[in-house]
Amino acid sequence: MVTSYIPLNLDECLKILSDKQVRIVAGGTDMLIQNRSHTSMPIGFKSDVCYISNIEELKKIYEDETFVYIGSVCSLEAIMESELVPELLKNTILEMASPAIRHTATLAGNIGNASPAGDSLVPLYLLDALVEKRSIKGVSKVALSDFITGVRKIDLEKDELITKVIIPKISFTKSYFKKVGPRLSDAISKLSFAGAYKLENDLVKDIRIAFGSVNVTVVRRRDLEERLIGKTKDEVKKMVSEIVDWYEEFIKPIDDQRSNKEYRKSISLKLLRSFIENIE
Ligand SMILES: Cc1cc2nc3c(=O)[nH]c(=O)nc-3n(C[C@H](O)[C@H](O)[C@H](O)COP(=O)(O)OP(=O)(O)OC[C@H]3O[C@@H](n4cnc5c(N)ncnc54)[C@H](O)[C@@H]3O)c2cc1C
Repeated sequence: MVTSYIPLNLDECLKILSDKQVRIVAGGTDMLIQNRSHTSMPIGFKSDVCYISNIEELKKIYEDETFVYIGSVCSLEAIMESELVPELLKNTILEMASPAIRHTATLAGNIGNASPAGDSLVPLYLLDALVEKRSIKGVSKVALSDFITGVRKIDLEKDELITKVIIPKISFTKSYFKKVGPRLSDAISKLSFAGAYKLENDLVKDIRIAFGSVNVTVVRRRDLEERLIGKTKDEVKKMVSEIVDWYEEFIKPIDDQRSNKEYRKSISLKLLRSFIENIE
């Protein structure tokens, strides 16, 4: 028999995680699919579960001078409605799932699932997001790009909970997200792309590029971005074919039921080309 724990505050939750062997469920929109059972209703969880969506402390979105903090049980819809959240992330969430799912699903759940096709991961990598994790022993922060260690693999101990997603406040001249999926809503990405840049007097002060669904996790290459910083926008635009060549070796998609590797690679590089050509 499966036991369900429903803590009402963070301390209670961390104690459960410390004392019991449980799977964490936030919105449950991945967990329900992964644990669905065709013989037992409603869901065939194989271990005890801890439902965290009632923890009030984790429902807040707030800011300080440097960061925006998103509590780990805020729904995607609440994040989309917040004035504090960067437009790039909001535009991405708008393309995720459907309104019904977005009212339940969380950003931390998208991170916890660590799917190569997790849409929010692409802007979050681009924005240098951090994950705050907590256990009864203490709290720590880790870069999202270090937190996700592989396909569905994260750097989280059994007694730890993601408590916040932390986003540095950065201003861009333009930011852009594009998802390519089989249909407009309730569709998992075939591939996705995010780009952002900041220009000052036509000089590139910052430029960031990230690809989803084309490797084990999001592809972002700071070393390649740095080669473009300090150039004029026209110099960067003239380098477009060279830039596409740089990224070619890092775009290593697979064939699966949603798409094939040739399509994923070709469209990803076309989106990169278009992003560079349209720097204004
Ligand atoms: C119809 C449908 C459409 C979808 N469309 C999209 C889409 O367009 N794009 C997309 O990226 N995804 C999509 N998804 C997948 C899913 O909705 C997202 O990944 C969502 O963000 C998961 O959030 P959740 O709160 O429901 O996670 P849950 O299912 O509750 O959890 C997911 C994983 O994260 C872990 N976890 C959750 N919260 C925490 C925490 N605070 N600390 C530690 N671990 C935690 C869980 O243990 C589990 O391993 C879709 C799903 C469905 C059912």
